[in-house]
Amino acid sequence: MICFPGAEHVEISAYAYRRRMTGVGLSYDARQRLHIQCPECDETLATGSLKAHLRARHHIEQLETLDKEPPEPQQPTSYTIEWPKTEKKRPCPCPVPSFPGQPASMNGMRQHFMRKYPDHTLCIRNEGSAPSPRCAACSMHVTYAALNTTHPNSKLCLKGQERKAKRARLAAVEQSKAVTFTALGAPIENVTSFCYLGRILCANNSDWPAVYKNLSKARQKWAFISHQQDD
Ligand SMILES: [Zn+2]
Ligand SMILES: [Zn+2]
Ligand SMILES: [Zn+2]
Repeated sequence: MICFPGAEHVEISAYAYRRRMTGVGLSYDARQRLHIQCPECDETLATGSLKAHLRARHHIEQLETLDKEPPEPQQPTSYTIEWPKTEKKRPCPCPVPSFPGQPASMNGMRQHFMRKYPDHTLCIRNEGSAPSPRCAACSMHVTYAALNTTHPNSKLCLKGQERKAKRARLAAVEQSKAVTFTALGAPIENVTSFCYLGRILCANNSDWPAVYKNLSKARQKWAFISHQQDD
């Protein structure tokens, strides 16, 4: 078994982001209400109830870090844009085609790149012919002036550092999925939970499987006692 950090969300999903930008698609609540079939027993239930159903009925813990689609790998690319000069606060379309987005300011565009495309390079021509330097801590493109004054360890920088650390953890999870354990040269099954000294240990360190197992044990004991009394 390989242990993973609990649910890690670096950013909202690609679906949610497109919906926010274009208004097309179902809201999170509407998607949670959609009916699906349980993969274990074929019972029809709301998407939002599946996790609790799998826990209570089948003693299966969904590992979000494993079930979630990994973010699409980004081929580091350089983008150069010219900000429209007609109005000061005019939005400029994001040059990356896969995600829609129209930040309202140059700083907003640099923040957008930090959040969405940390591997891409952004050059805004209005600020010079070369890209602004990157902050070593959060990897955001920052103007020279801000880099030497307000930016380091600002709220934005700290959030960026947190995001960067989460990305590194998710990358480690992705790498660990490819690991194969062997015993005497033969590959062995990699499980996501197992019973150790009577307690179920789960790869995402969740206590729920142990709680449900203890409850079912208690229920069996109570049933046994009540049968004894009936006799
Ligand atoms: Zn089921
Ligand atoms: Zn974008
Ligand atoms: Zn920074």
